[in-house]
Amino acid sequence: MKQKFRHFSRPNNTFAKVVFAVECDEDGNCPNCHIDYAECPCLGPTMPNVEYEWRNGIMYGRKIADD
Ligand SMILES: [Zn+2]
Repeated sequence: MKQKFRHFSRPNNTFAKVVFAVECDEDGNCPNCHIDYAECPCLGPTMPNVEYEWRNGIMYGRKIADD
C-alpha cells in the first residue's frame, strides 16, 4: 500500500503541480521524479494538511501548517 504522508520535514509553501497516481508509469514511478511515487516529494491529490488550487485545469497544492 503506497502512502504519501511523511515527506515534509521542512515547510514548503510554494504551490507545485499535484501528481496523480494514475499519471505514474507501470512501475508506479512518478512522471516528474522518475522514482517510486510513494517515495518522491510530489504532492498527491488527497494528502492531509495540503491546500489545493486549480489553475487552467491543472491541480496545484501546497503544504500548510498542521498545528
Ligand atoms: Zn514526484
